[in-house]
Formats: sequence, C-alpha cells, structure tokens
Amino acid sequence: MELSTLTQQKQELLAELATLGDMRQGTLQTRMRKCSKQGCCCHTEGHPGHGPIYEFSGWEDGKRRVWNYKPGKELDALVHQVAAYQRFTQITKELITISSTIARLREKEHARTVEKTERKKKRQSSSARKSTRK
Ligand SMILES: [Zn+2]
Repeated sequence: MELSTLTQQKQELLAELATLGDMRQGTLQTRMRKCSKQGCCCHTEGHPGHGPIYEFSGWEDGKRRVWNYKPGKELDALVHQVAAYQRFTQITKELITISSTIARLREKEHARTVEKTERKKKRQSSSARKSTRK
C-alpha cells in the first residue's frame, strides 16, 4: 500500500480515537437467576430463572469486580462505554499495524535513497579513476 494512503488512514484513526467518550474495560452479559424463595416458580424443572440480569464484570482499583445493572439510563451508558473500549483496543491494534508498515516503508525508501547516492558516488569515482572494476 502507498505510504500516503497509510498516513491518511493513521490520521483518520487518531481522529476517531479523539471522539471516543467514556470507556470501561470489561464484559457485559445477561443471565437468568434462580431466587432463594422457596416454592417460587423458578425452581421448577425447565424454568430458565428470573431476569435477564445484566452483569458487568470489570475492574476497579486493579481488582476484578462484578456489577449488576437494571435496564435504564445507566445500562445504556454502560453499553456505550464497553463498546467505546472495544473500539479503542481495535483502533490501537490497527494503529500499531499501520505505524509498523509506515516505518518499514520509510526504512525501505531510505535504503533506496542511500543505495542510489552510493551508486552515483561509485560511478563518479570509478569514471574518475577509469577503473575497470565492477
Ligand atoms: Zn424465583
């Protein structure tokens, strides 16, 4: 791929990174739960349990924690925060790949320029000395 295309892609990713709002690292899942009430319908065979319960397992102060959410504003916000985090990791991965390719292309380009000037120098010196060496 072209260096200019890659640098443009890099700029776009960096710009998108700046638009990401609050992020939360963790996984949000729904599950059903059996309650502790004796004789409740959830204890009958084949009953899926109460719910769904929105369970978010994330991190707080470096420790793993689980939070339960009810449908509502907070859960909606959390869904966006988790998605923002996932997009963030995606973008950073892409940025690393693109940056590495850009660096490699620049390296090659530099090597080509050096080679060209070296060849030019050699040609000049060999013609000056009228050498027959290769
Ligand atoms: Zn129950």
